[in-house]
Amino acid sequence: MTTPPTIEQLHAAAAEHADQGRPVPCQQGTPADRAAWTSEDRHDLARAAEQCAPCPIRAQCRAVAVHAQEPTGAWGGTVPGRRGGTGRINTPAVLAALAAHDHPATVREIAAHIVAGTPSPKDRQEVASIAARLVSTGRATKTGAGNRVRYTTTTEQETAA
Ligand code: SF4
Repeated sequence: MTTPPTIEQLHAAAAEHADQGRPVPCQQGTPADRAAWTSEDRHDLARAAEQCAPCPIRAQCRAVAVHAQEPTGAWGGTVPGRRGGTGRINTPAVLAALAAHDHPATVREIAAHIVAGTPSPKDRQEVASIAARLVSTGRATKTGAGNRVRYTTTTEQETAA
């Protein structure tokens, strides 16, 4: 596993991107907006994690949290308990994978797209959980049943990750 950046390197990268007109989302808005990233409310954290999608340092940020097994906060699009072994399976990644398919995608297809290879059972489980939540909130549709379940995103503007 590649060594992740230190917190200081992460902050320096954030400042550099901000200087170049690419601010990181968790440093934007009001103090109340920014508090979502450190909230103890899981709904706030989930919303914050989704706002990480366009962040220019999302991968590094996620790597820091995964490496440190960070128990609190939204980091790199992930939330506590759902950072995963790689941190790759998250809501923005699932939405991006759905958008990348020109047909309704199975859980296996979504997971394979995200990990760029053969997904593990845990990867598929994570994708299934996120896809179910997207369906329940109207951001994806579900067709079929059992092993034939397929998903399609309904929110084009949220798929850039
Ligand atoms: S990935 Fe999210 S938490 Fe990390 S720096 Fe970017 S906006 Fe902030």
